[in-house]
Amino acid sequence: MKQFACGDVVPSCGRTFTAPADDDILTAVAGHAREDHGLAEVPAGLVDQVRAAIRTV
Ligand SMILES: [Zn+2]
Repeated sequence: MKQFACGDVVPSCGRTFTAPADDDILTAVAGHAREDHGLAEVPAGLVDQVRAAIRTV
């Protein structure tokens, strides 16, 4: 499984995500970013940061 802690990118956020694949994490993070961080779109640079912070668990 893959795991991502939003706090690794947005220090004030305590949300974590677990999914079978990186792309599933990115899909979930995009929804979270839109609903909880007010980002209509996730910028490419942020996607790179998220990918870099995803851990295999
Ligand atoms: Zn967050």
